Amino acid sequence: MTTQQQSSIPYCDATACVAAGCNPIVCTGAGTPSNKQVFERSTRVIPGGVNSSIRAFKAVGGSPYVVARGDGAHVYDVEGKQYIDLVQSYGAVILGHAHPAITSALRDAAPDGTSFGAPTPREMKLAEAISERVPSCERVRFMNSGTEATSTVVRLARGLTGRSKVIIFDGNFHGATDALLAAGGSGVATLGIPGTAGVPPEAVANTIVAPYNVVPEIDETVACVIVEAVAANMGVVAPAPGFLEGLRAACDRVGALLVFDEVITGFRLGTDGAQGRFNVKPDLTCFGKVIGGGLPIGAVGGRRDVMENLTPLGKVFHAGTLAGNPMATAAGLAAMSELTSDVYIELELRATRLTSLITDATTAAGLPVTTSRVGTLVGIYLGNALGGSRLPINFDEAKQTDEALYARLFHSLLNEGVAMAPGAYEAIFVGVGHTEAVMNDLADRFHRAARAATA
Ligand SMILES: *Cc1c(COP(=O)(O)O)cnc(C)c1O
Repeated sequence: MTTQQQSSIPYCDATACVAAGCNPIVCTGAGTPSNKQVFERSTRVIPGGVNSSIRAFKAVGGSPYVVARGDGAHVYDVEGKQYIDLVQSYGAVILGHAHPAITSALRDAAPDGTSFGAPTPREMKLAEAISERVPSCERVRFMNSGTEATSTVVRLARGLTGRSKVIIFDGNFHGATDALLAAGGSGVATLGIPGTAGVPPEAVANTIVAPYNVVPEIDETVACVIVEAVAANMGVVAPAPGFLEGLRAACDRVGALLVFDEVITGFRLGTDGAQGRFNVKPDLTCFGKVIGGGLPIGAVGGRRDVMENLTPLGKVFHAGTLAGNPMATAAGLAAMSELTSDVYIELELRATRLTSLITDATTAAGLPVTTSRVGTLVGIYLGNALGGSRLPINFDEAKQTDEALYARLFHSLLNEGVAMAPGAYEAIFVGVGHTEAVMNDLADRFHRAARAATA
């Protein structure tokens, strides 16, 4: 092969292709395709080119980078460009991409078969691992996504209490399940209005949406209250002192179940999640993301007497062809065994470093950016609509973030090789892959990007 041919990669000969930095999955033989070309090809067969809406860059403009591979803190697009990744699969990949503990667990598990439709030993061990770390989870049932976990929890709470009403909080996110895709009014608890086309009013007729950080009125018609114990889908908003305790007391008073949606916070904030950090015990907990080590998973954990209302012991139906999947539970087990309390101490230092480097870079560039941090979770708020550097305490306040400024900073960062989530309300994730060297590199790139976003 001549040098000329190598640089233009005329044919997809996998070996030469990879050596030249091409991606043999997408190479058409007409040279290395660009992000744009691959994405446009996707849009011809996948609606909007994506399988989760935010990935399409609608909130920030432009066309997405298409990821070919990842390694620790880094991802590489199909053009071979490297990014320091602060998305980390929205927190699922806490060990960093292609961590050896995960890849070897998958390599070990795959030859034994990938799904059976029968009980398997790894699901038992992952349930034990969760139950040992989170005392409120005396029993654990697996499913395939966080969305399945929250929809199962609603059915379980309704089935057990014989009540219909569900209380959620404005700006909390519980996945793509009809009853929880409800929008609220401003400032007060209201009956939910459909949060998207396709959700009929009757699907949210029993959903009440209350402002975050205020304990709503709860009566005997309420089956459960579902809350993100740390809100991590409207930036990062900490629970106000007394909020979670107040919910616990109010639920106890009327016999409603308290549900923590720990799909993000579970095994991200520490070995026992938000409930351990804030020392409030929910009746039920939803998990996802981290517990699958980057594979599809969800779980509901909770008190034995509550959980045993699920079939086959109780009357509330649950099933899943791939639930408790051997590959997902193998990866999840590998992740859990890496996540010792020492790791969280290190990650918390790293998250602190992240907030200070963002503050330094944006202050030096004269950009109004405030960071919020709860343990290892970091969020940013742009602009000073709330006055000074005050942080939002609920969704009405979080929505005052300067989305146009976020989009500008986002694209400057992307240009410098830093990948943030393409939406102003997502948390920023650092993990085991973000070593000291990566954080130093990130600081440099952030400074350059913040200056460019000002210009
Ligand atoms: C991501 C998320 C979900 C939904 O999980 P999926 O696996 O995407 O279905 C639910 N609740 C919270 C708090 C989340 O962050």
